[in-house]
Amino acid sequence: MTQLFRQRRDRILAYQAMRQGRALSLQQLCCEGCGQESPAMQWNEGLMVCPKCGHHMPLGAYSRLHQLLDAGSFRELDGDLVGRDPLEFPGYPEKLAALREKTGLKESVVTAYGTLRGYGAVFAVLDSSFLMGSMGWAVGEKVTRAVEYAGRHRLPLIIFSASGGARMQEGIYSLMQMAKTTAAITRFQQNGGLYISCLTHPTTGGVTASFASLGDVMLAEPGALIGFAGPRVIEQTIGEKLPEGFQRSEALLENGFLDKIVNRSQWPEVLAQLLALHKGGKSC
Ligand SMILES: [Zn+2]
Repeated sequence: MTQLFRQRRDRILAYQAMRQGRALSLQQLCCEGCGQESPAMQWNEGLMVCPKCGHHMPLGAYSRLHQLLDAGSFRELDGDLVGRDPLEFPGYPEKLAALREKTGLKESVVTAYGTLRGYGAVFAVLDSSFLMGSMGWAVGEKVTRAVEYAGRHRLPLIIFSASGGARMQEGIYSLMQMAKTTAAITRFQQNGGLYISCLTHPTTGGVTASFASLGDVMLAEPGALIGFAGPRVIEQTIGEKLPEGFQRSEALLENGFLDKIVNRSQWPEVLAQLLALHKGGKSC
């Protein structure tokens, strides 16, 4: 019976990942890095990394989890928790409903328990295809609950961020999520929990200014834009041209904000090594 449940969970995650395969419906997909086209099949096989230049295009949350988790170990947490419309913002509920239909996501974060090469961990993965991965009440709540779940079960926490920042349609409720997630992570770390923060393109605004920057280990994908305000806003504010590569992962690694840049295909290996070190080599 346990085996049956594992197989069913695996099928659900595989189906969601396939549904998210952005390139599936296209014959060719154009790279935002080099501008060259490649067959959809190659994009899917390479987890949305350009086969020609290695540029990392956004990867859906379920596809990301499908890459990382051991078969049959995926257990989604708070899968039915959805956003509200506290300010009665015009058109917001309709927008959420249309995005749920289009993306197969209920919100812009998916949280889950799973094992990675035998090591149990709690995962939160933001998805930029849902309102730019912006953080409203539901995202803050799901991240906070994932952190608390990890704390209760003494599991490491791994968050993949990809976000445009706070969600403007929820105003102040959105900004409150910064304090809430930060407090939860601080408590988790004070109790000895390991938090690995993985930043992907783009990670900006209120997400950078809260949980994304608080990792015990800070990792990022190549070429990811990571910052608070975007480069255009900074240039307009200070009236100066920014240096080449400003706010990209490579510059942030050089300046000490990141510990390592990880190519997409290397995530399972790198994360498994860190989890193994944390557990003293013992898997669960
Ligand atoms: Zn390319």
